[in-house]
Amino acid sequence: MEDRQARPDHPETSPQAASAATLWVVATPLGHLEDLSPRAQSVLENAPIVAAEDTRISRRLVPNNKDQRWISVNEHTEKGWIERIIESLLSGQDVALVSDAGTPLISDPGFRLVSAAHDHGIRVSPVPGPCAAIAALSVAGLASDRFHFEGFLPPKSGARQARLRQLASLESTLIFYVPARDLLKALKDMSETLGPERLITLARELTKQFETIRRDSVAALSAWIEADSDQCRGEAVLVVEGASDPEPMISPQVLAEALRDSLPPSQAARLLGRVSGLSRQQAWQWIHGDGAEPTDHTNGAESK
Ligand code: SAM
Repeated sequence: MEDRQARPDHPETSPQAASAATLWVVATPLGHLEDLSPRAQSVLENAPIVAAEDTRISRRLVPNNKDQRWISVNEHTEKGWIERIIESLLSGQDVALVSDAGTPLISDPGFRLVSAAHDHGIRVSPVPGPCAAIAALSVAGLASDRFHFEGFLPPKSGARQARLRQLASLESTLIFYVPARDLLKALKDMSETLGPERLITLARELTKQFETIRRDSVAALSAWIEADSDQCRGEAVLVVEGASDPEPMISPQVLAEALRDSLPPSQAARLLGRVSGLSRQQAWQWIHGDGAEPTDHTNGAESK
């Protein structure tokens, strides 16, 4: 019997597919060329059109085929190419989409093209393989049942810290893409926002000659990198332990409003302080909402 799963040209047909052609989304190696799967190689060799982020990089993966058309589809050119690629697909020509390394669309271009293909009822099929985030998570030694993929943080420290603060209470493991030259800056901001004691795994230069995998606290990893400037070369993923002591689901403001409605102020403030860890004065201010401080006669007895 024919093994359909092993044939790159026979994916499961999507019920709404309107064209005979397929947009293949093909993962390619992060560094080690042998990580190109035989199926990925076959699709890349046989697709009449290959849309590559940088054609010079991706052309190295397959033998030169003069009948094939290679086009450069990157974040700047993707929009301009979509119509023409969709026309080619609708006329029956397969297109293989690749990025420079790893899985297209994962912090890489391709989303608009894949979305447009869906809009036109074109069959889209993945040729799965390397992805730096998943490779890093698989060796991080941190909880992998739930994770949040953040990709790149903002380049400016203020915006980076603000984003990290938003993520600080997430219990899921966090995954960041970081150019290795920015590791120390990112770790400094992580120390200030997530805390210096969080466990973190550096996964640098995965599958390449100087591959480094190291798990430590944010503070210790930072000190280790500072002592070895080679660690600031190449490409890196940081995988960070999720929050173990998440922020309360209910904000003090919401809690204060609920307590204020149903209890006398001094009792409400006492309870708010106990459940949210606020000081007596802070809890009182939340309950009053006017910055008033408790006085002796209001502490424990009603003064309304
Ligand atoms: N689409 C790719 C994927 O599937 O992982 C990611 C592309 S993104 C533009 C590039 C980032 O991926 C790098 O800055 C780095 O964070 C990560 N990365 C790519 N190759 C890597 C490698 N060999 N080792 C560690 N991180 C890598």
